[in-house]
Amino acid sequence: MSSAQSGLRRRSGIGLTSARARDRLAEQLEQRGIRSQEVLEQIRRAPRHLFIDEALERYAYQDNALPIGAGQTISQPYVVALMTQALLMDDDGRMRRPGKVLEVGSGSGYQTAILAPLVRQLFAIERIRSLLDSSRPLLRELGCGNVRFRHGDGKEGWPGQAPFDGILVAAGAASVPEALLEQLAPGGRLVMPVGGRDRQKLLCVERSEDGEVRENLAPVAFVPLLPGQE
Ligand code: SAH
Repeated sequence: MSSAQSGLRRRSGIGLTSARARDRLAEQLEQRGIRSQEVLEQIRRAPRHLFIDEALERYAYQDNALPIGAGQTISQPYVVALMTQALLMDDDGRMRRPGKVLEVGSGSGYQTAILAPLVRQLFAIERIRSLLDSSRPLLRELGCGNVRFRHGDGKEGWPGQAPFDGILVAAGAASVPEALLEQLAPGGRLVMPVGGRDRQKLLCVERSEDGEVRENLAPVAFVPLLPGQE
């Protein structure tokens, strides 16, 4: 087989990386309680095997986190779906379509690819340059034209683009950084793991005109939100 042919097979996926494997993953997530059909549709669509090293691609559609280099991990599909659903779905099952959304810790770009089609504009910050260097072209190739990436410390948010209707943070800290709360629009929602280093609770904060409502969604284990950039 020519390398162009093998490249094509890798892109479209066969066997353990096929559309069938993605369908099975979406079914599993639905059984685990993901209710948003829009989110499940994105799980069926996004080629997760392209966001990880080729040597690991046979595990791409198992519901697990996997290493992506630089000591980081691609998030577990269930957690990606849960966070996306928490950000976008109201209690009555209706989906919001937020205008501007900020993603902190875009890592491999898989969560970015799930979220981008469901929002108008997505602003993604990652502190490790090597991860940005592979996720940025991949997202472009997959047709996510509404994403802007930035290399930096997401704890500071993205002041020039604030306020945001939604903020999704994919790394854990003892509390929600003040700058992020300040950059949340009235009526906007922030989803983030909060707690100790290896164990956190997924927290959803909804901002209203006269304060905020906080809800704990599920126990999770995320890598820590770190200062500065590499
Ligand atoms: N959703 C991503 C998760 C990656 S893990 C995926 O599925 O691939 C969390 C990511 O947050 C890592 O890439 C890490 O480098 C990044 N990160 C940690 N602290 C950060 C910060 N202060 N600003 C931006 N990114 C940060």
